[in-house]
Amino acid sequence: MTIDSVRAALLSRQASATELATDALKFAEAENPRTNAYLHFSPERALAAAKRVDEQLARGEEPGPLAGVPIAVKDVIVTKGLRTTCGSRLLAHYIPPYDATAVVRLEQAGGVLIGKTNCDEFAMGSSNENSAFGPVLNPVDPTRVPGGTSGGSAAAVAQGTAVVALGSDTGGSIRQPASFCGVVGVCPTYGRVSRYGLTAHASSLDHIGPLARTVRDAATLLGVIAGHDPCDSTSAAAPVPDYPALLDGQVKGLKLGLPREYLKDLTSETGDLISQGVEVFQRLGCEVREISMPATGYAIACYYIISTAEASSNLARFDGVRYTARSASSETLADLYRNTRGEGFGAECKRRIMLGTYVLSHGYYDAYYVKAQKVRSLIARDFANAFQEVDAIVAPVSPFPAFKLGEKVDDPIAMYLSDIYTITGSLAGIPCMSVPCGTTAAGLPVGMQILTRHFDETTMFRLADAFERTRS
Ligand code: GLN
Repeated sequence: MTIDSVRAALLSRQASATELATDALKFAEAENPRTNAYLHFSPERALAAAKRVDEQLARGEEPGPLAGVPIAVKDVIVTKGLRTTCGSRLLAHYIPPYDATAVVRLEQAGGVLIGKTNCDEFAMGSSNENSAFGPVLNPVDPTRVPGGTSGGSAAAVAQGTAVVALGSDTGGSIRQPASFCGVVGVCPTYGRVSRYGLTAHASSLDHIGPLARTVRDAATLLGVIAGHDPCDSTSAAAPVPDYPALLDGQVKGLKLGLPREYLKDLTSETGDLISQGVEVFQRLGCEVREISMPATGYAIACYYIISTAEASSNLARFDGVRYTARSASSETLADLYRNTRGEGFGAECKRRIMLGTYVLSHGYYDAYYVKAQKVRSLIARDFANAFQEVDAIVAPVSPFPAFKLGEKVDDPIAMYLSDIYTITGSLAGIPCMSVPCGTTAAGLPVGMQILTRHFDETTMFRLADAFERTRS
């Protein structure tokens, strides 16, 4: 179903929100063994939310834009009274005392939270294989990864067990799994959605954003969760447009840029699908030109210095004293930290804590961390220059479609390289999304990325929606 079809069913009294929630929970629980997309379900909370919607409808009140819509939430986003594990053994039993702002907003809008989705530990990875609770399998081909780190949310939406889902994106973790699973995934402008209640990975890069089956649904969900929040000092006061109302299929005259540096190393199948997508935009009346983003080659190094530096600091809070399980066998305080963290964190988190601590340490700080910050400015400048010429940039999301489980787990560099096209937008803090643009000969979905100016999600959604219309 889509948000609109749920609404129509409720308003015509074809189904009650309680019936929809009960069915959604039953379906999601039955389907879950196929993919391991959910870590746990929240039947009590879902039925309470559905009951509120049914009561509002019975009183003749407007129940909100997400009324009765079954929603899955990535398990790095905290939920009051509902386990939030971040895909980590350390937080296997952690029950947060408060709700993330995005969760509060979606429930105020009538949304029905049915469960929490699997993810790479603390949102670090590109394949969902770093979860302490087992990988997620791609619903399109269960021998392949769903992408990471919001792989559970993408798989849930692709399977139809949730109508929409929340994910988080630091360097591509919404867009890449959306591309691998054949759904829409949106990373909004940095600051557009409050990070209050999003477990920090790399704070200057972290975003919460929607995954959905249609551009319209993603736009509706973003409209609900976006906007200033006094609990997050980096959340922006910019007004939030009525995104779905602005989707009219008209994109004639928009100027699109194709970055030369992104297209040169593409495998032929993904490259061909992106080129066909660009031709669709030309037929819709967009003007396409090649642009250059000269700093692109430094993006991976820059991202993995800045994000690991921030992660090493953010993960310090998981120390066996607060939040987490505590190692049973410690004699001294230092042992307690060492043992808890040594036993609790998976290999990827440890790798990043070491790398991040190294680049921040005395003697290396200027050579690595400060240098990376300068490169980040150059990458942002590439985008600023491009947006003087064009209204949006069209690019691949990933160099390849969903890869096999196990294919890249032993090679962290190969895994990091799969982020090449997504991290530049993250470093610049601009809105970027993945919209399905076709499948390979083997039937694997491929997403096309659309990037626009800061706070111009409207143009991004209008382009993606116009594109989607040509495909249905
Ligand atoms: N793959 C990137 C990383 O591992 C992105 C992760 C994310 O966006 N959370 O850091």
